[in-house]
Amino acid sequence: MPNPHYNLHLDGETIKEECGVIGVYLPGEDVASTCFFGLFALQHRGQESAGMAVSDGSKVRMHKGMGLVNQVFGAETLATLPGEMAVGHTRYSTTGASALRNAQPIFCQTQIGEVAVAHNGNLINAVQLRTELEADGEVFGSTSDTEVMARIIVRNLRNGVEEAVREVMRLCKGAFSVVVQTPTTIVGFRDPYGIRPLSVGRLGENGHMMASESCAFGPIGGVVERELKPGEIAVIDHNGLRIVQGIESPKEAMCLFEFIYFARPDSRMFGTGLYSARVRMGERLNEEHPVDADIIVPVPDSGIPAALGFSKACGIPFREGMMKSRYIHRTFIQPDQRMREIGVRMKLTPLEDHIRGKRVVLVDDSIVRGTTTKQIVKMMFDSGATEVHVRITAPPIKHPCFYGIDMASKNELAAAVMTLEELTAHIGATSLGFLSVDGARLAVNDSTEGFCTACFTGEYPLEIPDGLQKNAFGDPVGELETVSSGQGVLISE
Ligand code: SF4
Repeated sequence: MPNPHYNLHLDGETIKEECGVIGVYLPGEDVASTCFFGLFALQHRGQESAGMAVSDGSKVRMHKGMGLVNQVFGAETLATLPGEMAVGHTRYSTTGASALRNAQPIFCQTQIGEVAVAHNGNLINAVQLRTELEADGEVFGSTSDTEVMARIIVRNLRNGVEEAVREVMRLCKGAFSVVVQTPTTIVGFRDPYGIRPLSVGRLGENGHMMASESCAFGPIGGVVERELKPGEIAVIDHNGLRIVQGIESPKEAMCLFEFIYFARPDSRMFGTGLYSARVRMGERLNEEHPVDADIIVPVPDSGIPAALGFSKACGIPFREGMMKSRYIHRTFIQPDQRMREIGVRMKLTPLEDHIRGKRVVLVDDSIVRGTTTKQIVKMMFDSGATEVHVRITAPPIKHPCFYGIDMASKNELAAAVMTLEELTAHIGATSLGFLSVDGARLAVNDSTEGFCTACFTGEYPLEIPDGLQKNAFGDPVGELETVSSGQGVLISE
């Protein structure tokens, strides 16, 4: 089976998105192809595996596989999935956890009923819960923390799926935005801190849907009604859409990185368009770290809105300084060592005519290990830039994420182990400036409340259990191997 993972290693440290989830209900229609196109819109949140569970009202059928959405599903496969309700998932995970058994949705069946569960996030008490469930006779078929949730749900179905989901919300700690398919109902819910996104709305004439991001609604004829609030449960069935509070929310702590990088720029979160938020981040970046230069150059594609904002705020012209290959993610040939050494040049090629003799401001979204930034700075100088000033919209990443994003261990994070001066020298830049945490927050919604900023500040909204190692989510934890369903950031060399 070709593995798209290979291609994700090309550029050294590209941040990869996490998982995407979707649930769709169109009364009287087969929804598999609708769900397929919705998943397609969430492809950026996970390129390792995709899956879908479809109910015809009495039976849930499922198909999932490794690869991109259009590799896992073809017309013939979709034709074998009849029914008017479906949930779907796109997944990204660390290399070690790349396995079909961990692809989602996860299906669980007992005499009481059956569920298919798809999850974006990471449970920080998955090992403990799994140990308890195994001691009580449960036999797990995957190493995914999502199966922990699925097994809790099926064990509690006797009281109805809504109550079963409440039990998951009571027991599970961590980040989770989840969709559940039973034969007659779709249920979606968010953890009490609302760390990962989930929106609900209408679909077609009289249907409903939910999805990780608003960008999945429009292409399939959906309209967002609102984002699910932390701790809320959305139920979609023949009676329509109903939202209830599943568990009390101590405070909202949505992932700030969703706004900086993970989510698609055409999505809306916290009531704001992400493209506009990123433009504002660029404006604030100019306020915080102004520089005298000739051109503002984005690192495509994610640096473009911020570079436009930076340029607008300081009046220095915006220029494309490099081209990104459109096809690098669509090939499945494993790069050999020589090509790996070429690294970032396989993905980005410089536009020398724009760069030669210029003082360049290079705008990008984040620095993790610094490997990619270093190569791009070198590419700018090799193309004739006289100065390269790097400006980054993510504040310095100094702490690991325990809520579904794999950012490597703390000692691999460049900003955690180097001073600003050291990091500037490491990447070879003329100067380096990061947007502040408040600058990023204020650019989103003029507020400093409601965000998780733990990877920048070390202030984790949910206490992290002692001994939970950063690499625990993708690799063996204690005696158990568990994997997060939401591992999204691959830091690779
Ligand atoms: S630690 Fe960082 S990446 Fe993880 S949820 Fe919080 S803000 Fe997002």
